[in-house]
Amino acid sequence: MKKPDEIMADYLLKGGKMLSKACPACGSPLFEYKGETLCVVCAEQGGGSTEESVAPAPREAPPAPELPTPPGSGASALAAELDRTLVYLCERIRSEARTEDCCTLMECVAQGIEVRRHL
Ligand SMILES: [Zn+2]
Repeated sequence: MKKPDEIMADYLLKGGKMLSKACPACGSPLFEYKGETLCVVCAEQGGGSTEESVAPAPREAPPAPELPTPPGSGASALAAELDRTLVYLCERIRSEARTEDCCTLMECVAQGIEVRRHL
């Protein structure tokens, strides 16, 4: 927002001529500019509206939806492989003659199931 003094100084520099009459609205001296008599202050200040329109605060963007895990990812491929391995181990347990080996294989299966659960 320019001050009336600055506006008038601008019009003087641009070739305006200050008149002895005063603006009835704001009391500033009228100017003769480009053949017209006008109040440069009122013209420049656009009718005296000084209120700047307050821009509404931008609304916060909604959070992005969680992306679902795409199918065929490494985890599911690993799970399928674990499934096959567990089936294979179970088959070996069935055919295993020695109890100690059965226990060892059962522990392997249990560990595999545990890992499978966390995939
Ligand atoms: Zn005026």
